[in-house]
Amino acid sequence: LYRLLPRVSGVNNGLAQINGEWPFVERVAEILRTDDKEYVHSGELPFQRLEEGIRFDGVTLTYPGSTRPAVHNLSFTIPRGSMVAFVGTSGAGKSTLVNLLLRLYDPDTGHIWVDGKDLKRLRLTDWRERIGVVDQDTFVFSTTIAENIRFGRLDADDGAVRRAAQMAQAHEFIAQLPAGYETEVGDRGYRLSGGQRQRLAIARAVIREPEILIFDEATSALDSRSERLIQSAMGELRQDRTLVVIAHRLSTVVDADQIYVLQDGRVVEQGTHPSLLAAGGLYASLWRIQAGSAPAYP
Ligand code: ADP
Ligand code: MG
Repeated sequence: LYRLLPRVSGVNNGLAQINGEWPFVERVAEILRTDDKEYVHSGELPFQRLEEGIRFDGVTLTYPGSTRPAVHNLSFTIPRGSMVAFVGTSGAGKSTLVNLLLRLYDPDTGHIWVDGKDLKRLRLTDWRERIGVVDQDTFVFSTTIAENIRFGRLDADDGAVRRAAQMAQAHEFIAQLPAGYETEVGDRGYRLSGGQRQRLAIARAVIREPEILIFDEATSALDSRSERLIQSAMGELRQDRTLVVIAHRLSTVVDADQIYVLQDGRVVEQGTHPSLLAAGGLYASLWRIQAGSAPAYP
């Protein structure tokens, strides 16, 4: 949902009144998708939980109107319960693989297997219900903090809102705001910092108790305290979930079970942080560049 919201122009506060569940995404997608790509159709197989994992198998996608595939013959595995990270320069295809995971698009060729079943055969609502996305552009509605978190699951009670905030390492800063969870934020309210917005987004995603959590990290640098807090939130969240992390800050992924380095829509390297550093390739050079630059404050 948050992936799509920023692309809708001229709507903002009114959305808070609209049901925030996935069917809304499909409505927005219908409005936004004016291209001639065939729309995705729901499969018939119920999906409850991930048993083994997700496997991309030679996946290629070319966006309508484009001549070059955004991802090309992409293969990798996301085992259940693991943290898998994707890094690479801008335009490498990282967000595209999230679009594919969410089934906003289907592959032109290749398959996405979920526990050995083609993702296309799963019931779309079942699948999307089990996935939480923390997107690059967190949309903050002009209402209270609590309502902003509840937007992830409209029937969540106060206890659930608080637990989600705690999981997201957001509880502490919220508790210090003048009216706590009832503090008004957004255009006319308290202005959240980038790091606070991102933790709000995490709380909004985890309140749905997703089994698969996708982070598509913002490009903007965070202050080092926020960065630490978000890392510690991820550390906690990975305990009983499958984490897919698209990272711009490589410090986020040093603990990942597996890191895939993308370039021009292809996997060019893969491994753990230490093994990729030792390999001395693209990852190692990205790491050197980031390690050499002082943290920027938004
Ligand atoms: P990343 O997230 O790694 O920066 P993306 O997956 O967003 O990369 O983009 C991969 C390639 O696909 C880029 O060349 C980008 O310009 C192109 N692209 C992304 N989204 C669209 C779209 N909706 N329509 C056409 N081309 C797109
Ligand atoms: Mg991206």
